[in-house]
Amino acid sequence: MEAAYEPQTLQDAIVYFASPDNCLKYLARKRWPNGVTCPTCGSQSVIFLANQRRWKCRENHPAPQFSVKVGTVMEDSPIGLDKWLCAMWQIVNCKNISSYEVHRAIGITQKSAWFLDHRIRFALGLAPGNKLSGQVEADETFIGGKARKLHADKRAEKITGTGGKDKTAVMGILERGPKSIGSKVRVKVIDNTKKKTLQSEVREHVLAGSAIFTNALQSYEHLDEFQHEVVDHAVEYVRGEVHTNGLENFWSLVKRGLKGTYISVEPFHLFRYLDEQVFRYNHRKMNDGDRFNIVVREIVGKRLTWDQLTGKLSGSGTPETV
Ligand SMILES: [Zn+2]
Repeated sequence: MEAAYEPQTLQDAIVYFASPDNCLKYLARKRWPNGVTCPTCGSQSVIFLANQRRWKCRENHPAPQFSVKVGTVMEDSPIGLDKWLCAMWQIVNCKNISSYEVHRAIGITQKSAWFLDHRIRFALGLAPGNKLSGQVEADETFIGGKARKLHADKRAEKITGTGGKDKTAVMGILERGPKSIGSKVRVKVIDNTKKKTLQSEVREHVLAGSAIFTNALQSYEHLDEFQHEVVDHAVEYVRGEVHTNGLENFWSLVKRGLKGTYISVEPFHLFRYLDEQVFRYNHRKMNDGDRFNIVVREIVGKRLTWDQLTGKLSGSGTPETV
């Protein structure tokens, strides 16, 4: 296969993806680096129908024709590949872009832009890899909620202590890394900040024996299989290596982003917004072209329908798992 062209800037991307043939060539190469295979049966015996920009499987099964969109988050979308690719570029590389801006920039309806935007964020929810190790920070925070729209005296009633009844609890775990690579963060929306919840997250994501730094919340007590050090924020924020500043910085990025662009992120959709922020944070040392390349590969093989996205699932399963 010929050498792959990779756009390096937004301008490159817009020019290159203006051609439907370039879009198809680009996506097909990401999706099938070893040659096109049928998404239904896996056969490599396929023919390209150039005038339809589709392939046809030679095996004998129903619906033998397929496009590059089949089996990806783009499946069933009437939006052209050119618009998909430009939207992906913007969402991956432009800070805190909203679906409203995508809608204006690429000329699709706002509802389409919203759906597209969420499917791209869904694709950014990277599968958890190995456990984090070395020096690890764990911290919890509360995000969003209706409280900030309330009148000040009502708000005082609603918000108590560091959390808030209308806010969503979020847990973050960060592995410190060398300067050249930077730290990596994992984030999850959680039901509460009780001991059982926080500690099961830590145990799921952190290798036993690692150094773990947390605040003085009682929920973190007795993480005995780790080298656990606590920084009591009532007394100090940093004691040598003992601090949670990596996560504090990440939380402020997330919260600033929410305030700046998104009018509101409902708790149901919050995890997708967080996935996007996590992706961008964990890949911040890369250039725009490399980051885009990674996200396109993530998009292949993931699906998300409108009903799943809006919670109209009749059966079991959640948008995270289907
Ligand atoms: Zn087939």
